[in-house]
Amino acid sequence: MKAVRLTGIGQLDYTDRHRPFAGPGDVLVRVEAAGLCGSDRHMVKGEYPTALPVTLGHEFCGIVEAVGEGAGRLNVGDRITADPNIACGACPSCRDGRPNLCDHLTAIGVFRDGGFAEYVAIPEGQAHLLPAGLDPRHGAFSEPLACCLHALDLAAIRPGMSVAILGGGVIGLLMVQLARLAGATTVVLSTRQQSRRDLALTMGATYAEMPDRVGAVVPNGVDVVIECAGVPETFAQSIALARKGGTVVIFGVTPKGATIPVEPFDILTREIQLRAAWLNPLTHARAAALVASGALALDPLITRVIGLADLPAMLAAAPAQGEVKTIILPGER
Ligand SMILES: [Zn+2]
Ligand SMILES: [Zn+2]
Repeated sequence: MKAVRLTGIGQLDYTDRHRPFAGPGDVLVRVEAAGLCGSDRHMVKGEYPTALPVTLGHEFCGIVEAVGEGAGRLNVGDRITADPNIACGACPSCRDGRPNLCDHLTAIGVFRDGGFAEYVAIPEGQAHLLPAGLDPRHGAFSEPLACCLHALDLAAIRPGMSVAILGGGVIGLLMVQLARLAGATTVVLSTRQQSRRDLALTMGATYAEMPDRVGAVVPNGVDVVIECAGVPETFAQSIALARKGGTVVIFGVTPKGATIPVEPFDILTREIQLRAAWLNPLTHARAAALVASGALALDPLITRVIGLADLPAMLAAAPAQGEVKTIILPGER
């Protein structure tokens, strides 16, 4: 089978591999669609730890082709989406119901072979059913959506609230839709790219602004700010944009080691609630259900569809202007 492997920092191979098999407790999945994530580019550059060599791809859906010994919840022919994050189930965080903080967390497409391949073997417990009639390109959104749902849970948006979303990539644009579904009546999206601002307005944002213009459209601040840019300056801005008693959810991944000045007195006396949303603890099933429901506009987020052969060049390059989500169809040649 064909696969795209990270063999060293900055080194990607489009290569032939033996098809994996479904070991005990595993299912073998024929990958129908996989999403290219910003983290994949960080992994290529060595900015995020991975196994080497490894087949990347942690956002994917596909069809169960074989069921290993001891696995039996799924059947051959089922369409599934994989939760890539595998927790140990036994460490203090896992026993506390917080698998995203597992001491022994490992991930498909990061520390073991993932979905940038024609086939992948995964533990059956990581798989969540999708409808037979679903567009597989939509199924590939389940993983980023599951991470967004964790942030949304922490944001605790109630109907009628105002929300600012900083960052207009695929995450920010999903958050716009989720904030509206949660009942927010004011949703401001902040991003530098005009095409993304235009897209946000079609997805329910009430305002889409350049970062330096956001404060002007919500002069009294907002109930909830979700930082999806992963930029230190945006982190600082998110605190400033929260109204008194407001909530700031940190979602974007800032470079490790980056710091910003904060004023504890301001956070204290305005009682700003700072919350961090990391990964997708126990939210993947809900994400699969939401994708299956068709409640989200996903097609407008897909800006390119490619085969595996074109993936290495795409991964090695910076995101193109206007790029939101690239979907890989491993079955395409
Ligand atoms: Zn990702
Ligand atoms: Zn654990």
